[in-house]
Amino acid sequence: MTDMHDEVVEAVLGYYDSNQDLAVDCLLYLASLKDMRLAYAATRELEAMERCPECGSKLESYTHLVYHPEVDEPPRYEPVTEVYCPRCDIRTGGNYV
Ligand SMILES: [Zn+2]
Repeated sequence: MTDMHDEVVEAVLGYYDSNQDLAVDCLLYLASLKDMRLAYAATRELEAMERCPECGSKLESYTHLVYHPEVDEPPRYEPVTEVYCPRCDIRTGGNYV
């Protein structure tokens, strides 16, 4: 059987083009299925939409400064932006490479 996971995800996105919340609900369902490739494709799309792959909430980000004591010259602070879900507080940024 041909793998159609990308086509399924694209079909959902196209069909619910004007209603992102419905598309997110469909992607959450797909992401929960046992088909790993389909779940991965749906999860990837949710992250591209800046939605939590667990609950579908809009992801938020915050920037904080990381101190680098090994650096000789100031500034020793590096701004780092983290992405997180305000509902489940799962950090999704960078987990899927
Ligand atoms: Zn969440």
